[in-house]
Amino acid sequence: MTGVAVRLEGLRRTFGTVHALDDLDLAIEPGELVALLGPSGCGKTTALRILAGLEEATAGRVLVDGRDVTRLPANKRGMGMVFQAYSLFPHLTAAQNVEFGPRLRRGSLARAAEMLDLVGLSGFAKRYPHQLSGGQQQRVALARALAIEPRVLLLDEPLSALDAKVRVQLRDEIRRIQTEVGTTTLFVTHDQEEALAVADRVGVMRAGRLEQLATPSEVYLRPATAFVADFVGLSNRLPGSVNGDVVEVLGARLPLVTPHAGGAATALVRPEAVDVVPDPGATATVLTSSFLGSTSRVTVSVGDQLVVAQVPSGRLPDLSAGTRVRVTIQPVAVALE
Ligand code: ATP
Repeated sequence: MTGVAVRLEGLRRTFGTVHALDDLDLAIEPGELVALLGPSGCGKTTALRILAGLEEATAGRVLVDGRDVTRLPANKRGMGMVFQAYSLFPHLTAAQNVEFGPRLRRGSLARAAEMLDLVGLSGFAKRYPHQLSGGQQQRVALARALAIEPRVLLLDEPLSALDAKVRVQLRDEIRRIQTEVGTTTLFVTHDQEEALAVADRVGVMRAGRLEQLATPSEVYLRPATAFVADFVGLSNRLPGSVNGDVVEVLGARLPLVTPHAGGAATALVRPEAVDVVPDPGATATVLTSSFLGSTSRVTVSVGDQLVVAQVPSGRLPDLSAGTRVRVTIQPVAVALE
């Protein structure tokens, strides 16, 4: 389905002299999951809270299904929300928490039970929040948010308080459940891996603006700006010279994401685009290598330049410190600083 379910139009929000949002535009398609990603203080939460009606915009409009809801109070907007943690009513059981919204709105209690089932917790209906793990509490919070059949689901760092393993499990669950119910969703996170894993499109924010809005692979493989290349994944900063739509770096000719005037430039090159092969006749030398699991990180000195490569761990025994290596770069698109 195409169209627009949520539109944020020229949103501004100032707190004293702080511009939390600075002319933010964002359109979310029906059923789409958009993740807002960015460093602390870039305005992600403010954008979500303005969409929810919990915060007023200094300027701009919020449209849901084409209707201007900018002046509508939060409880009239039909938003389901999940926050970082501890948002369940402590004196209500899991089932009562999920039924809370439908009871208030004379909605369907059957839907509440269905949602608890959908998050895999029908067997925990009678437990109180303190009798549930953090991950289970967030599942209940998700079921509660979905029980009111929201127009839009808003998730504000819903996984941040959980430990790494549960975080990954629940992240995949959220994606499965959101796809199943088809609710348009805005997911706020500062965790780039989480955003890439869960979203249809990722909006990378910087200082109250959207720097890039694109699919996870596009954001990662074709970062629009140096900020995006840096924030999403790691990059080597390597000197190069631009000629037409390519930049030449360490002998490789790499296509540019966006055109640039010719001359000297700094290219942002992903470690996994760098390959190192032992070669006793080469001048580059391995400085350090560290095992990260399935891949390993190898730092190489090439002349006075440090280059980080990410290689399959199986090759690590051949790449110990001091090994002479030949460095090559795959011809993937790069951004310039
Ligand atoms: P984080 O990941 O740390 O929550 P964020 O990207 O969600 O960051 P916001 O919480 O939206 O950022 O804040 C954006 C900016 O607005 C920050 O500089 C913040 O200090 C400021 N800000 C947010 N809320 C208020 C407030 N109620 N009063 C004053 N300043 C605020």
